[in-house]
Amino acid sequence: MISDKLRRPLGSVRVSVTDRCNLRCRYCMPEQDYVWLPKQSVLTFEEIARLVGIFTSLGVEKVRLTGGEPLLRHDLPTLTGMLAKNSRIRDLALTTNGLLLAKQAEALKQAGLGRVTVSLDTLRPDRMRELARTDRHTDVLAGIVAARAAGFRLKLNTVMIRGVNDDELVDLIEFGRSHAAEVRFIEYMDVGGATAWSAGQVVSQREILEVLSTRYGAITPVTTEDLSAPAERFRLPDGTTFGIVASTTAPFCRACDRSRLTADGTWFLCLYADRGTDLREPLRNGASDAELSDLIASTWRGRSDRGAEERLGVADRAPLYQVDGLRADPHREMHTRGG
Ligand code: SAM
Repeated sequence: MISDKLRRPLGSVRVSVTDRCNLRCRYCMPEQDYVWLPKQSVLTFEEIARLVGIFTSLGVEKVRLTGGEPLLRHDLPTLTGMLAKNSRIRDLALTTNGLLLAKQAEALKQAGLGRVTVSLDTLRPDRMRELARTDRHTDVLAGIVAARAAGFRLKLNTVMIRGVNDDELVDLIEFGRSHAAEVRFIEYMDVGGATAWSAGQVVSQREILEVLSTRYGAITPVTTEDLSAPAERFRLPDGTTFGIVASTTAPFCRACDRSRLTADGTWFLCLYADRGTDLREPLRNGASDAELSDLIASTWRGRSDRGAEERLGVADRAPLYQVDGLRADPHREMHTRGG
């Protein structure tokens, strides 16, 4: 296991398998058009599996497939099967918007995927049309049902935005409970494509807990051994658990063991980092596993990023990037970094 300058181990890699998405969530992809990664730069399954193998040889045990929308990548179960053969991976997970999940859930389960997280910001189809520019709310619900039927442990991710969906806190908890899925409320972050972000729209962890305790009674924190988990977990009086990812108002950088690999093989040490390390170029120019491993290990050892905590100290906080900055380098987009 290797550690960075703040003694944080390299424990987790989020692998973005495509920068393309079939939704246009207004907190992530609000623009009309985008600069995409060139097709020839996108890593093949073999290249991804090789890099993941090197990461796991350095101590990574958690791998999450993400995007863009990962289920848009042709034949994702094949990549899943290749990764599932890597016995060092303890937790192989997928984050998806669910639109294509109903068709693929069973094949992903057969391929060895362990867990699924579905993004579900609202239970109202009309709201989803407004928020994500899609009429396919029923496909997301069908995906959730299919994932449960396939036997997956399920989480639901909800980005809470004031005046958009903050009146659905209780409804989402009830929905999660009835579908045996744990809901995780995510504070609206000012990063990546969130060019319309404003501090006033952030529904904080404190507010979420206030609303839920008014409705359900005393909420207790769930203690966990995995201090690197992004969500703090809580328990309602009836035992229902839920999580809150308070990356905006109470970030957890000190325990962050996560890194992100974009679809074109750029490796980021922090969601807020301006630059990443190009692993594709050495990979395609014949670097050995030992050379790639040295590059990854030395880069991680030099890591001191605390992006979300540094943002906390910014006065008059505004979106990290405006459109020009995102167009100049699409690696800055959340849909390229994988969230
Ligand atoms: N397409 C997949 C999905 O919808 O889950 C995976 C990629 S998406 C970028 C990963 C996660 O990032 C989603 O749960 C999404 O809600 C979250 N996300 C994107 N932009 C965000 C923002 N500005 N604040 C908080 N979460 C955000």
